[in-house]
Amino acid sequence: MTVSDQQVQDNYHRVRGLVDLACERAGRSPDQVALLPVSKFHPTSMIRALIEIGCGVFGENRVQEMVSKATELGAGVAWVLIGHLQRNKAAQAAGVMSQLQSLDSLTLASALERRLASAQTDTPLSVLIEVNTSGELSKWGVQPDQVMSFTAQLAAFPHLAPRGLMTVAHPDPGLAEQGFADLALLRDQLRTRDGGGWEELSMGMSHDFPAAIAHGSTCVRIGTAIFGPRPSAV
Ligand SMILES: *Cc1c(COP(=O)(O)O)cnc(C)c1O
Repeated sequence: MTVSDQQVQDNYHRVRGLVDLACERAGRSPDQVALLPVSKFHPTSMIRALIEIGCGVFGENRVQEMVSKATELGAGVAWVLIGHLQRNKAAQAAGVMSQLQSLDSLTLASALERRLASAQTDTPLSVLIEVNTSGELSKWGVQPDQVMSFTAQLAAFPHLAPRGLMTVAHPDPGLAEQGFADLALLRDQLRTRDGGGWEELSMGMSHDFPAAIAHGSTCVRIGTAIFGPRPSAV
C-alpha cells in the first residue's frame, strides 16, 4: 500500500490534531509538544509534500539516508538523527544534523566533540541522551541506572549541548507507560541536580504517543501514522 502526497498531508494534520487532543486531556498546552515526522525509508517526494504545508524538520535513523536526502532537498530543511550513530560516521552526521537524539556513549560524544571543534562551530550541537527503558529488547541507549553518571561526564564536551532524554518504548503498552514514567523521573532528577535544563523528553511513536504526552513528552516521533507503512529496508 502506498500513500499519496495528499494523504501524507492529511495524515500530518490528523496526527497533529490527535497530539493537541492528548495535550488537552493531559492539561498541557499543545505548543509544549513538537511533532517530528520520521521519514526514514520514505521518498523525498513525501517529504516535499510536508514541506509544502510548512514542516521544516524531519527525523531519520540512518546517516547515509539523512545525508542523501539533505543533499537532495537543500537548505531550509533541518534533520534530526534518531537512530544509532556509529563513531566512524560521527563526522559525516555532524555536518548535516541539527540535533542528535540518540547519544549513548562517551566514545561517540568524544568523536562528535573532535569534529565540531575542528569545524570551529560556534553553536554547540543539541543532543538528547538515549535511555534504554525496554531492557533486553534494545541494544541501544544508556541504562537508566547509568544516566546520572553518564550525563555528569558530558561537561567535558563543550561543543555538545545536552537538552534532554529520548527513549524508544517497549511495545507492550503497560511496560511502555512505565518506561515513560521512568524517563520523566530521570529528567526531574537531572533538573534537580543541575538546577534546571534538560527540557526535552523525546518519547512517543505512532502507536503510543498519547500515553507519552500524558507523561510529559515534549517531542513525539511519528513515522507510520503520517507516511504509512515503511517499504522494507533496501
Ligand atoms: C522509526 C522510528 C520512529 C517512528 O516509528 P513509527 O512507529 O513508525 O511512528 C520513532 N523513533 C525512532 C527512534 C525510530 O527509529
